Amino acid sequence: MAKVCIICSQEVKQGHAVADDAVIRSIRRAKRYLRIAKNNELVVCENDLEAHRKKRQAYERNLAVYMVVAGIVLVLLVFLPVFTTGFSAYAVLVGLLFAAILVFMPVLTSHTPALEAGAAKAASATVPSKPSKMQKLDKIERNVGNAFHRIRKRWKKAAGKKAMKKPNPGKKKK
Ligand SMILES: [Zn+2]
Repeated sequence: MAKVCIICSQEVKQGHAVADDAVIRSIRRAKRYLRIAKNNELVVCENDLEAHRKKRQAYERNLAVYMVVAGIVLVLLVFLPVFTTGFSAYAVLVGLLFAAILVFMPVLTSHTPALEAGAAKAASATVPSKPSKMQKLDKIERNVGNAFHRIRKRWKKAAGKKAMKKPNPGKKKK
């Protein structure tokens, strides 16, 4: 099985495996049915990891937006007739069809499958990434936390010494 990068469409020797999702499975099934299946193994090559990450993010965002719009359309077409002319199976059907088309749009235009879980981990391990703002904040927080811890420890030690030096007022002789 040849490995083909889904971003640059080149045949590559090595790449990060792409997870089979419903869309890929459907396309494979359709291609097998039409006898045009190439049965390539879909991967993302090393050079395209960043491009893939961006594409995947855009796709996820797209899909989420279209799903929300589809949901609104469906709810409108189911409930509006109920409040006006009465429940309409026809409106529900149109709503379902419209919602399906809406969800299908981003799949058709920008479908980008995710990397396989293991592959994604390996990918993030091999790509030296700049520390993000969150990571930087985390580090600062950790450092501040450590400093506080040290100060508290020292203070406790000092307080303990002081307490030992201070004679107990209860046992003090008059
Ligand atoms: Zn590539």
